[in-house]
Amino acid sequence: MKEISVNRDPAELRKMLDYLGVAAFVIDVVSADEFLLAANNARHEQLTGMRLDEVAGRSVDELLTPEMVARVKANYRRCVEEKTATDYQETLDLPIGETFWQTTLVPFFDETGRVNRLLGTAYEISNQVHLELEARYQSTVMSAYLDESTDGILVVDANNQIKTWNRRFLEIWDIPEEVMVTRDGEAALQSVAEQLDDPVSFVQRVRELYCSLDEEEHGVHIQMKDGRVLERYSRGLHGCHGDYWGRIWFYRDVTELQRMTEELLHMSQTDPLTGIANRRTLMGTLEEEYRRAKRYGHHLSVLMLDLDHFKQINDRYGHATGDIVLKEFVGVVLPEIRVNDCFARMGGEEFAILLPETSLGSACRFAERLCRAVEDLTIDSPQGEIDITVSIGVAVLGDDDENPENLINRADRCLYAAKSEGRNRVRPRNDTDNCEDRMPGL
Ligand code: GH3
Ligand code: MG
Ligand code: MG
Repeated sequence: MKEISVNRDPAELRKMLDYLGVAAFVIDVVSADEFLLAANNARHEQLTGMRLDEVAGRSVDELLTPEMVARVKANYRRCVEEKTATDYQETLDLPIGETFWQTTLVPFFDETGRVNRLLGTAYEISNQVHLELEARYQSTVMSAYLDESTDGILVVDANNQIKTWNRRFLEIWDIPEEVMVTRDGEAALQSVAEQLDDPVSFVQRVRELYCSLDEEEHGVHIQMKDGRVLERYSRGLHGCHGDYWGRIWFYRDVTELQRMTEELLHMSQTDPLTGIANRRTLMGTLEEEYRRAKRYGHHLSVLMLDLDHFKQINDRYGHATGDIVLKEFVGVVLPEIRVNDCFARMGGEEFAILLPETSLGSACRFAERLCRAVEDLTIDSPQGEIDITVSIGVAVLGDDDENPENLINRADRCLYAAKSEGRNRVRPRNDTDNCEDRMPGL
């Protein structure tokens, strides 16, 4: 080890260094590969856990792990070779854990001009580094989200300047690149307006939201001229002290979803064979009409229809022809149905018709007309001509009815009576009911 002619009294050096607010240490340069930690100050001791009386005069090879030694020596050597103050950031695995430092080395020279001592000052920047890492992580996650999101996303600041947007936003809104490059929120708004079905309301609402800093919007539908439907979500962006940063907009193309939802709704409400309402729809409509009829004292009639001896048609001509017959039957009834009536297939070859604001007399007349129309129908099938008849039970809502099911049950009982009396006929409420009584004009 080479003899070096400098003051080595650690206590003396410590006094020099202790007043510094930063961690400070002195390195004796023995050779290009040998560096001794001559002294450190209280702050260095506190931050690194290296006590002066334990480390003073010891080689850095003894004090640090081999990887750390390689890194710190490389920095020491650079300072020694360049003979000038050297700044660098370093990561050190110290007894207190992994720490990040901003370090400055200042060289001192002997009489020959050789660097024989380094004064190091360092302050810990672990918090800052962690914040930077966290910010980088957040921005990486955000970029990935923006890139991969199926929503078109736009962020506009408090001055209506566009801060960021994603690829999907440009796909959804056909905005020329040059408009986006200006970052002018107003110009972008003007350029999308012409793509909308109702540009005036759209622009007005967007402006309104820009003025209502706290207002949020969740899933508002926007109709585009080209038939697409967009769903908009929007919320103001605020700093932790409530200061307004701008607004984020999400646009989602829900055209397909809406089409499928409508299709599913239609499927859940209709009978697939005949395309008319199903039992569920009729029961729902009945609930509403029942409430309305009760509230306003209006009439409400129900027809229950059942094809006669339909099993025989199936047996004779086959199930497929039976289906054709069901459709033909519906084809005869449908033109007779008013907008507010509800014609439904209740199941099999059984149907019902709800007739709001219709008295028993009118309902019976209507049922008779249907009965005759069906009787007159001749269906051409691959196996020849088929004639069918239908039996119909008719009931009208009475003051005693406490629920809509009563009405259906009564019409059902009338249908049963029509069947047992020989089919191909209309039966009103009960045996004492007589359609003619209630049809003075007939
Ligand atoms: P009734 O005059 O007493 O009403 O006799 P019916 O033969 O019409 O009544 P039944 O209840 O004995 O038979 C109804 C038949 O309707 C039995 C069933 O196979 C048939 N059916 C039910 N749904 C369908 C369908 O969707 N298509 C076809 N082709 N037949 C159906
Ligand atoms: Mg039948
Ligand atoms: Mg039946």
